[in-house]
Amino acid sequence: MFQKVEAARALSRAALIYNLNNTPPLTHYSIASKVFCTQTAFEVANDAVQILGGIGLSKEYPVEKIFRDARAALIEDGANDSLMITGAHCL
Ligand SMILES: Cc1cc2nc3c(=O)[nH]c(=O)nc-3n(C[C@H](O)[C@H](O)[C@H](O)COP(=O)(O)OP(=O)(O)OC[C@H]3O[C@@H](n4cnc5c(N)ncnc54)[C@H](O)[C@@H]3O)c2cc1C
Repeated sequence: MFQKVEAARALSRAALIYNLNNTPPLTHYSIASKVFCTQTAFEVANDAVQILGGIGLSKEYPVEKIFRDARAALIEDGANDSLMITGAHCL
């Protein structure tokens, strides 16, 4: 989980720095970052729910909300499946 989060952070920062310093910014860098980071967030939140068992799904603890938010992030700002197709067309 730690490795995944750090890899996602590294990619999002690299894409940000690349696009801030290049004109025009490259859409597929941004899409790759969004898709990888949200997929990572979902996988890590899913693992957190699994580790905590039933408590992980209780609204009294924050992991349930993190998991729901991570699931929504696979759809919001463009569903990842369609974003990946768009990103592939940018190459
Ligand atoms: C929590 C949340 C907050 C949001 N906030 C905002 C907001 O503040 N402002 C705003 O304007 N919008 C907002 N949205 C809307 C969001 O931007 C859209 O839901 C998102 O862009 C996906 O569009 P869609 O729901 O029409 O799904 P679609 O794009 O229709 O996707 C539905 C399904 O079809 C698949 N799909 C789509 N196209 C293809 C294709 N070509 N090939 C294969 N599969 C495909 C997708 O992968 C997905 O599984 C929010 C959504 C959520 C979930």
